Amino acid sequence: EYKDMSKERMMEIRRQNCNPMTMKVTYYKKPVYIHQGHMQWLWDVDGRRYLDLFAGVATVSVGHCHPKVTAAAEKQLRKLWHTTNIYVYSPLHEYTEKLAATLPDPLKVIYLTNSGSEANDLAMLMARLHTGNFDVITLRGSYHGGSPHTMGLTSNAAYKYPVASGLGCHNTMCPDVFAGPWGGSNCRDSPIQTIRDCSCPQAKTEFCVGIFLLMYIRSSITGSCTANDKYIGQLNEVFATSVPSRIAAFFAEPIMGVGGAVQYPKNFLKDTYKLVRERGGVCIADEVQTGFGRTGSHFWGFQGHDVIPDMVTMAKGIANGFPMGAVVTTPEVAASFAKGVHFNTFGGNPVACAIASSVLDTMEEDGTQQISHNVGTYLLTELAKMRDKYEIIGDVRGKGLQIGVEMVKDKASRKPLPPAAMSEIFEDTKDMGVLIGKGGVYGQTFRIKPPMCITKNDADFFLAVFNQALHNYMEDHH
Ligand code: PMP
Repeated sequence: EYKDMSKERMMEIRRQNCNPMTMKVTYYKKPVYIHQGHMQWLWDVDGRRYLDLFAGVATVSVGHCHPKVTAAAEKQLRKLWHTTNIYVYSPLHEYTEKLAATLPDPLKVIYLTNSGSEANDLAMLMARLHTGNFDVITLRGSYHGGSPHTMGLTSNAAYKYPVASGLGCHNTMCPDVFAGPWGGSNCRDSPIQTIRDCSCPQAKTEFCVGIFLLMYIRSSITGSCTANDKYIGQLNEVFATSVPSRIAAFFAEPIMGVGGAVQYPKNFLKDTYKLVRERGGVCIADEVQTGFGRTGSHFWGFQGHDVIPDMVTMAKGIANGFPMGAVVTTPEVAASFAKGVHFNTFGGNPVACAIASSVLDTMEEDGTQQISHNVGTYLLTELAKMRDKYEIIGDVRGKGLQIGVEMVKDKASRKPLPPAAMSEIFEDTKDMGVLIGKGGVYGQTFRIKPPMCITKNDADFFLAVFNQALHNYMEDHH
């Protein structure tokens, strides 16, 4: 029978033989030593069970060791592990046909990779070759990868190194309608009542209520909002000051992941895509976290923004935790890229394809997108009630099972809750049996992105635990 190493031995090896960074990001003061997983549950080496609401960062899509996916992996492992894609083999074709069917026309040509960074790297290269332009725009606060090229797309100092990287990448202001200067959180696509908001957070309450009502009426009639106009104005400033008149691409996630589940005003992506295309650029949706039904209302996050990108990149949930990524694009873009030879040893590996294929079938059979929508909306609704109860919950946002809870010092200032306080609530939540994530540029947002097999009962368990952790924190500090 399999026996885990002792905790002490693992830590000793980690100190001596592992990336030293991994010592810093054990996340918890008392680390969690994982023994095994099943569906939405993880067990530690002492046999304690945790409800996993982080899913290895939105990666375990249908459930840890989902029996159906495990069976598909086992079957393929006995038949063929690897061959180069100069040969023709069934699993790759079964999978690419199935994946293409989930995307709207003309997104039909698929390149398989092994990670999200690799997919974004490839997408950036293809965009440059296709357009003949070089400059790429992304949003501040975003994460798109850690390779030297994608480091330029990523806009969070924690992930930057002082080396030549990201030449030609420009990060524009993130349309963060909660923490940004122009308000507008009512302009998001959300199933819950947002906080009262206006473009003048410092204004007197009555004035603010008046402005809020006017803005609310305007946004419901015209679909537009003042904050969106301001953020588009910022983008125009980047066009005027930082890039040549023709650009290669714009990258954005439909809802930010590492950035803290930031949701943009409703028309932001639509307006941005138009401006980018006018300048010769292609639009790229990074669906590494938001794809595969995670946002509940749609299978792809971009569909919630009423846009069709020229390229979609994906990874994480694509194969339920098995390393895999993909770029999907149009025949036109693919033709520009066909002028050279693109080779990837493991991309399209038969085992990865068999697993990813089974993940798509399982999503359909288990109704994971519907679960995302139902349980996600329930969680958002209940978390919004907690937001109204606790002074330190500033914002609750997201869609489906891509949820962010932004913590603040107080509601008036909207300043981030300091890291020590975040850690205390985070650790307490874990000690009571629930694993969640942290994100945002200042580490101020709790992130909830569980395997899409969780139930309402699981949601209730989390809500009770989180409520207790917040209560404990308030008791100790206020
Ligand atoms: N894009 C997004 C939105 C991500 O969240 C990540 C990983 N956190 C990546 C790209 C990079 O993926 P990988 O770690 O597989 O390279």
